[in-house]
Amino acid sequence: MLWSMGLAPIDKTSTDSALTGSTDAVTAYLDNAATTAMHPPAIDAMLPYLTEHFGNPSGAHSMARDARRAMDDARDQIASAVGARSGGDVIFCSGGTESDNLAVLGVAAAEDPSGVSMPVCSAIEHHAVLESVEHRDGQTVQVGSDGIIDLGHLETILTTATRPISVVSVMMANNEVGVIQPIAAVAEVVRRHAPGALIHTDAVQAFCWLDLADITPLVDMVSISAHKFGGPKGIGALIAGDRVALSPRAIGGSQERERRGGTQNVGGAVAMGVAAELVATTRTDALERVAPLRDLLADSLVAAIPDGNETGISDGDRSQRLASVCHLCIDDIESEALLILLEREGIFASAASSCASGAMEPSHVLGAMGVPRDRAKGSLRLSLGYHTTRAEIDHAIAVIPTAVEKLRANESRNS
Ligand code: PLP
Repeated sequence: MLWSMGLAPIDKTSTDSALTGSTDAVTAYLDNAATTAMHPPAIDAMLPYLTEHFGNPSGAHSMARDARRAMDDARDQIASAVGARSGGDVIFCSGGTESDNLAVLGVAAAEDPSGVSMPVCSAIEHHAVLESVEHRDGQTVQVGSDGIIDLGHLETILTTATRPISVVSVMMANNEVGVIQPIAAVAEVVRRHAPGALIHTDAVQAFCWLDLADITPLVDMVSISAHKFGGPKGIGALIAGDRVALSPRAIGGSQERERRGGTQNVGGAVAMGVAAELVATTRTDALERVAPLRDLLADSLVAAIPDGNETGISDGDRSQRLASVCHLCIDDIESEALLILLEREGIFASAASSCASGAMEPSHVLGAMGVPRDRAKGSLRLSLGYHTTRAEIDHAIAVIPTAVEKLRANESRNS
């Protein structure tokens, strides 16, 4: 409806710039890794399930059956978009956090209620995985300065563990720096050294930009979250095949084949299915458009900002990075001050993951990559979305170096 009416998904209004003097600079939303705009067809698909077809999918009458059918169609769309075996593997839940919790804690509880077994994850996982692993007294695998998992360390942990390994969780792509992990190699190491362990990958950031079809069959569980790829907030899924015994984390209902209790978010699931299908069918085009914009942004900022370093990248090789993320650590500034200045110029960005920004502690991701504390203080994540335009990138390129210069000048005046 909105789409066919030709309404633009986002109103990117003009701003006056105090830094560059421009009177018609666009607003640049460069925080798409935190969340992105909904795809208009997903909104259109969702609305009837909030108005007309609002039945509870657990019921027996025809309105309930309509809702159930719509959810099952969405399961099939999602399964096909991520390369899963069937829609029956899709467990709807409230988003990436719950999906990650269910993968790590649900497996541990189902397989080993006494709590003897041990989960393992990489040191740069999202807190939803990291804290679940900590909760079961698990172990973390170190990463290199490029953010890539140390497979030798993973092997050591698996071969010297004194407790059985319940699950190994390694994210497909990181939410702060955008590093892509070698999941096929991880799966090979786990199957060889801990054949009883299940493998989970958090693909919350990856799905929008990477085809999961080759990876999903290699692992046991995959987490995705709709609001990262053009669906609504508050809906996500854990994709888990038959081999996986899961004890639900939300109890008190037999929904989702007794793996997640609670009345389902039908409209959200329908919109998520449409967004997933759209992402899978338009990903190649989106990448062709967005990757050069990210490269232009990163190359221009690195060239224009003295001591502005692209985090964990050497020789400009971004082949192991999501096409949508530009992460910098800028010496002699503090992220919080930069973000305030940028927002005044109509640029919305982030210091780290949105969950960690606002905290003064440098992120655990940068710490694990060995970025010195002083440098990590000046971190800046600029993340592009399917709707990012060249004008937004030009605005960021015009403003950010000047903003950094201004902050550094203030700092040296005050010191
Ligand atoms: N995992 C990753 C990699 C994420 O980036 C996020 C959100 O930033 C989550 C999990 C949590 O997802 P949600 O916001 O849907 O709970």
